[in-house]
Amino acid sequence: MARAAKAVIDLTALKHNYLLAKELAPGRKAVAIIKANAYGHGAVEAAEYLSDVADAFGVACIEEALQLAENGIKQPVVLLEGFFTADELEFVDKYRMMTAVHSEWQLEALEQHAFSQPLPVLVKFDSGMHRLGFDAEGFAKAVERLQKMDHISDVIAMTHFACADELECEYTQTQMANFHAACDRFGLQHCMANSAVTLHWPEAHGDWVRPGIMLYGASPLDQQTENAARLKPVMTLSSEIIAIRELPAGEPVGYGRRFTSEQPTRVGVVAMGYADGYPRHAIDGTPVAVNGKMTRLIGKVSMDMMTLDLTDQPEAKIGDPVELWGEQVDVNQVAACSDTISYTLFTGITSRVPRIYK
Ligand code: PLP
Repeated sequence: MARAAKAVIDLTALKHNYLLAKELAPGRKAVAIIKANAYGHGAVEAAEYLSDVADAFGVACIEEALQLAENGIKQPVVLLEGFFTADELEFVDKYRMMTAVHSEWQLEALEQHAFSQPLPVLVKFDSGMHRLGFDAEGFAKAVERLQKMDHISDVIAMTHFACADELECEYTQTQMANFHAACDRFGLQHCMANSAVTLHWPEAHGDWVRPGIMLYGASPLDQQTENAARLKPVMTLSSEIIAIRELPAGEPVGYGRRFTSEQPTRVGVVAMGYADGYPRHAIDGTPVAVNGKMTRLIGKVSMDMMTLDLTDQPEAKIGDPVELWGEQVDVNQVAACSDTISYTLFTGITSRVPRIYK
């Protein structure tokens, strides 16, 4: 019998979430962000399944874009961070990629490259995130330079928000105002909206939205909203109970004796650990579901195993299914109990865990 740890990926839920983004931003194009192996869900599988509905796909680098092209994905692919070296432009041209442009040297490289066909580019404005992008003056110069290049067909203005996940956030309003002040006079298309903006800030939907985490069924918002409640989880991370121990009161469980039973405790040992990507920092009390019933993590997560409280489940036995997150266990709750976010949980699932598509 094989080790039972697995991540079941529900591609119909992925499509539902993508179509929800399209519904929330009617008439807009939606770039499905599938960088980092579709946030751990499998980029090729995600792109293939979305290929009949997706307007474009977004990735972090040329390697991720080439993986899609080599697997026959025909949609335009957006390089969210642009190209890292000028020699990537050969592939940008060959596969008609849409690259972001955020630095002076990239403008020079675009001017110098002999393109075979006109391509759209996204020029990044730093509206307040202060990560990538031109300031207002640099942006104006960049747009003017790009508009002079024969091989650039469209210039799309792009920006990224720092805290749109906060439902009440003045800084998001400031970033929007900065963006409009710098970009509006050029009459360009706009591309601004990550998942938080797609879900909660319709005034910043622009012409292209760029949802990532919401496609995978996790809301980035700091509070529940009607729109976010419509998301469906895509990944169910699960495993099985491999051993059960009955401990008297006063006995510790696992490394460091972090948990000590106050009463006789039935402990379930599960084949899932931090080498699978389950967060080592998950605290006692982190929710898990055994046979569909909620219980809690007790003791530190180890490399290949973790321990659960089965005291209220005397019927639970070896081989019973355990859900770590998915339909029953909200990934955001696991993230909160691990001092992290759903993004790191999804992308952290290691190659040891088979992805099973349904
Ligand atoms: N756009 C850019 C430039 C990004 O870097 C990301 C993700 O990091 C996204 C869009 C998607 O963000 P989210 O997953 O929060 O929707």
